Amino acid sequence: NMKVEIIPCLSDNFSYIIHDKESDKVSIVDPADFNVCDDVVKKYKKLDFILNTHHHVDHVDGNLDLKKKYNSKILGFELDKDRIPGIDILLKENQKHKIGNLEFEVIFVPGHTKGHIAFYFFKEKVVFTGDALFSLGCGRVFEGTHEEMFNSLNKIKKLPLDTKIYCGHEYTKSNLNFCLAYDSKNTFLKEKEIDIQKKLSSNQPTMPTILGQEIKTNIFLRCNDPEIKHALGLKDSSEVEVFSKLRDLKDSF
Ligand code: ZN
Ligand code: FE
Repeated sequence: NMKVEIIPCLSDNFSYIIHDKESDKVSIVDPADFNVCDDVVKKYKKLDFILNTHHHVDHVDGNLDLKKKYNSKILGFELDKDRIPGIDILLKENQKHKIGNLEFEVIFVPGHTKGHIAFYFFKEKVVFTGDALFSLGCGRVFEGTHEEMFNSLNKIKKLPLDTKIYCGHEYTKSNLNFCLAYDSKNTFLKEKEIDIQKKLSSNQPTMPTILGQEIKTNIFLRCNDPEIKHALGLKDSSEVEVFSKLRDLKDSF
């Protein structure tokens, strides 16, 4: 029995508490800020695990202070053992790992960074995607290649369509504007827009989003769509070429 609590942090980050009610284990994904996260963690009076999707400071800044206060164990990808502050447990690609009674699989999704992972709780069908996949967008390619990022997104795309996605940032509105610019005829996108406006206007996070919806609306997951290819003037290009073009355009949007 998994409960996810969303903690908006900094200007647009999300940290997430995962509470396993059966085992009473409490975990946090990507603690962006100690004080803000601790205000929520305090209620539980404990923090067993800290899960990091990647090493960027806006995802690990709470690590050491939370670990010190609650004696938590920090989990991250083995490749990032020298970059994730306080790391205790080194995770491998495709490895399954239990936190209490909840079990996740490590999905290796490089591109944004070389050591980026997603945490996929397969029984609950919940995935924490960090800065790999956003709602209606994807992370900037900092350390990897466009092709790596494209392949990483395809791994997430293969999960069950009703998977709930919790990502690292509230970038949904600006991502929506980008999608609308190059995928203007997409009727699913118009529906998604209504849903997003409703949430944002009542100060609600746009998380979680659902994979099935993202596949129909997130332009970075739609690189094979003829209308989009046409809009970009890339009728005869491969999917990864379309992805690359979109990523470049988004960088300066
Ligand atoms: Zn990042
Ligand atoms: Fe980030």
